[in-house]
Amino acid sequence: MEISNKFPGGNIELICEKDNEVFIEREIRNDGGYFYWAFCVTGAQGKTVRFRFPHSTRVGRFGAAVSHDLKSWFWSNSKELVEKKDAFTYTFAPDETRVYFAHNMVYSEEMLCDFLQSNNIALETFTQTKKGRNVPCFSIGEGDTLVLITSRHHACESTGTYLLQGFAQGCLEKRPSGIKFLFVPFVDYDGVVDGDAGKGRLPHDHNRDYGETVLYPETAKLQELADSGRVLMNFDLHSPHHDGWINDYPYIMKFAEGENEIYEKVSKKWIRLTKNDANSMTYTGEQDIEHGAKWNETTLPCNKNYFLPRTKLHACFLVETPYFALEDNRFEQDKAITLGYHLYEAAYEVFCDAAKR
Ligand SMILES: [Zn+2]
Repeated sequence: MEISNKFPGGNIELICEKDNEVFIEREIRNDGGYFYWAFCVTGAQGKTVRFRFPHSTRVGRFGAAVSHDLKSWFWSNSKELVEKKDAFTYTFAPDETRVYFAHNMVYSEEMLCDFLQSNNIALETFTQTKKGRNVPCFSIGEGDTLVLITSRHHACESTGTYLLQGFAQGCLEKRPSGIKFLFVPFVDYDGVVDGDAGKGRLPHDHNRDYGETVLYPETAKLQELADSGRVLMNFDLHSPHHDGWINDYPYIMKFAEGENEIYEKVSKKWIRLTKNDANSMTYTGEQDIEHGAKWNETTLPCNKNYFLPRTKLHACFLVETPYFALEDNRFEQDKAITLGYHLYEAAYEVFCDAAKR
């Protein structure tokens, strides 16, 4: 049996392996003790192996996310040590020569490329990272006015990228003229490729990079767009903490005082659309955070606070989508994509009204 971190997003360090038990020492490149991990196992056909982490809060309530191709994922459903959330057990079928395991259902670059190819959308370059990689982006529609959709300001927060794809699917079906929808699926692209958690990186992560001391070219480019006055509104899609409390529900950060008209409109419609669709994860609006409450602070340097006053509609949707969610609303790839599709539908009228002006 071989365990490797040599694939985009992979990041563990193995300490020892004995009697079909594997101890993972740490998830490398996880500044601030964050919980993201991903690794690949080959040559374990027919074995039952228990994987154990040195810390709790590493495995979700449905077990590990499992994949054979980094595109299609399922939950291992390991119920072991659920309380400590520090282990999972997997039985490898005789034909399972290569299996990827991760904290959550990673949205990979291959998935993005498949989506773009099957819809004849060109892959473009947003900017170059500090390490010289090209940051992928794509656009749908034409116009001077922009609607901006971003995910992975925090590299490991894949759930948002599923919503981004669903949003793009809605956009392909119908869209108002004169608006260009610009998608940046992997804002911290270096972090995504290198397997960083990203969140809490020192001296600060991508979402804390807004303001005067900008460290990352991707954020600099996003600020440039915000300052251009061309952005109608933006959607910044994240994942919350591991699980528990409001982290088990999709939720939105409300806008500034007296500026929640668009939020109310979109939120109400999104609730209705997802409630009536058994193939979508549901959003209830009940966990949305008031402006100025909890960590929805007014003075924090972040994407939302930078964009909000600079967008034409003063509308910035920071949406958090859970890694696992609850049993009756569990995170599945298709259902998360549909949740994003409904977010687009919920905002469609706002786009159309703005396009008419
Ligand atoms: Zn985040």
